[in-house]
Amino acid sequence: MNVFLDMLYPRRCIGCGETTPDSFRYICWECWSDSARIEPPFCSLCGDPVAGAVDHDFICYSCSAKKPAFDGARSAARYDGVVGEALRQLKYEQALWLAPDLAILLHNCIRAEYPNQKFDLLVPVPLHHVRKRSRGYNQSTVLARELARRLGHKIHPGLLKRVRPTISQTNLTAKDRLSNVTKAFQFRKGRRLAGKKVLLVDDIMTTGATVNACARALKKGGAATVHVITAARG
Ligand SMILES: [Zn+2]
Ligand SMILES: [Zn+2]
Repeated sequence: MNVFLDMLYPRRCIGCGETTPDSFRYICWECWSDSARIEPPFCSLCGDPVAGAVDHDFICYSCSAKKPAFDGARSAARYDGVVGEALRQLKYEQALWLAPDLAILLHNCIRAEYPNQKFDLLVPVPLHHVRKRSRGYNQSTVLARELARRLGHKIHPGLLKRVRPTISQTNLTAKDRLSNVTKAFQFRKGRRLAGKKVLLVDDIMTTGATVNACARALKKGGAATVHVITAARG
């Protein structure tokens, strides 16, 4: 059936417009390899890249000043180029068909960055129900579901809830972003979380305030560890 559909509607790469062989989906190899991956050196806790050569594990200034609630955060690529475009279309243009491509990116990043970690639960960063209603879906849940399929896991979107709608983060300073999200998430009582190792999934990480607030709520609920994975870093 897919072969038939591909003949009718050849898949075109969203980066360069070339037709893509089936297995490469909607982003071709050239565009993949051109995307700016996040590579060392970066903070071994929050994963923030730094310029220059560092040949040992290090913790960045902001993580040393205040230890984040998560145990690690990694992002696969920078929020630009073909990855930025795919995430933008996934979020704002209902391009749900791009999720499998992005899940490959997430999966590769997990294998590289958390090679020995076993996760019990995959939890997407929730949207507030008002925002979800207007968009129709939560792009983080869509990504987490595709990733879970690749890992042979299930996702647990109900574990966290967003208890208040955070105003759009785009135009806020880092400090305002923090107070905007600090109490925005709650662990849903009655769910089994004690001692669990959680993988928290989001599309984009910017200051880390959102994933940190989620991690804090998950830890409050008893999670043993919370590791964060995002497709891009803004
Ligand atoms: Zn391409
Ligand atoms: Zn850091």
